[in-house]
Amino acid sequence: MLDGLEALRAIMAERFEQAGLPFDGLILTSVFRNPVHHTYHAGLTTTESRHQYGLAADMRIWGHGMTREEYFYELRDAAHDDRVGACFEPEELIRAGSSDGQTLTHAHVDWRDPCPTGW
Ligand SMILES: [Zn+2]
Repeated sequence: MLDGLEALRAIMAERFEQAGLPFDGLILTSVFRNPVHHTYHAGLTTTESRHQYGLAADMRIWGHGMTREEYFYELRDAAHDDRVGACFEPEELIRAGSSDGQTLTHAHVDWRDPCPTGW
């Protein structure tokens, strides 16, 4: 995962540079989650989260000098680059999981083989 994150960071840095925008790096908001906390305290039902294995990262998508959507799509394209090889949680799932059911709150990448359909 660390190699994948570094490749993702390098690709994003390259794209920002090409666009003439400053890049402050990836801002990780959640990486490893203790399975007990994940299930019993955070109330999350999935037992298949890659966060429990330290193979997933959530990233902040706002405050990068572009809209959340623009940054999210840049990340998605970079995550699917062969050098990164990550699964990328689809926009619809992120929006559906937000408190109002429509906000793009973050981006989630993880490493598993194969990725779920559409990731
Ligand atoms: Zn996540």
